[in-house]
Amino acid sequence: MRRAVCPGSFDPIHNGHLEVIARASGLFDEVIVAVSTNYAKKYRFSLDERIEMARETLASLRGIIVEPVGQGLLAEYCRHRGASAIVKGLRSSSDFDYELPMATMNRQLSGVETVFLPAESHYLHLSSTLIKEVADLGGEVSDFVPRSVLKRLLSTGPAGGHASGLSPLG
Ligand code: ADP
Repeated sequence: MRRAVCPGSFDPIHNGHLEVIARASGLFDEVIVAVSTNYAKKYRFSLDERIEMARETLASLRGIIVEPVGQGLLAEYCRHRGASAIVKGLRSSSDFDYELPMATMNRQLSGVETVFLPAESHYLHLSSTLIKEVADLGGEVSDFVPRSVLKRLLSTGPAGGHASGLSPLG
């Protein structure tokens, strides 16, 4: 049984995440989508909501488990769950620069390998942060998120979906 972990905060999960998770499930027998909470960060959605959205969206794919991951080391979590790999999507060279030292550290700590998958070209620009900003300013994000996420984004954003302030485009 070859098991991989796709970690992230998924606040909320979007099509770029889903595409990488689906590709990971073609490479491994089981993929654990490990939903993290960093207590120094402020999230739009609670841990339970983030997990629920991921589960709803991934329900049709076989061999995928969505579960919370605690505050400890990811390398330790992978060892505990019997995962031989961490799968990460790469959008840019800055993603790579950020991920490389963590990948090396995780391998040295527990032997877990990190597998990088290049992001699909039409999802390269997607991040949860940008999607939330666009949605809050009344922009159309239905091409970027699954339906259950869209519903929640619209119901948790500023009233009417419009906010004052700068748009993400400046
Ligand atoms: P964070 O843990 O920084 O909050 P996210 O939850 O946004 O990260 O994303 C989790 C992981 O999903 C990232 O580390 C990256 O590997 C992958 N990812 C994020 N956005 C994309 C994208 N647009 N295309 C492919 N992979 C992505």
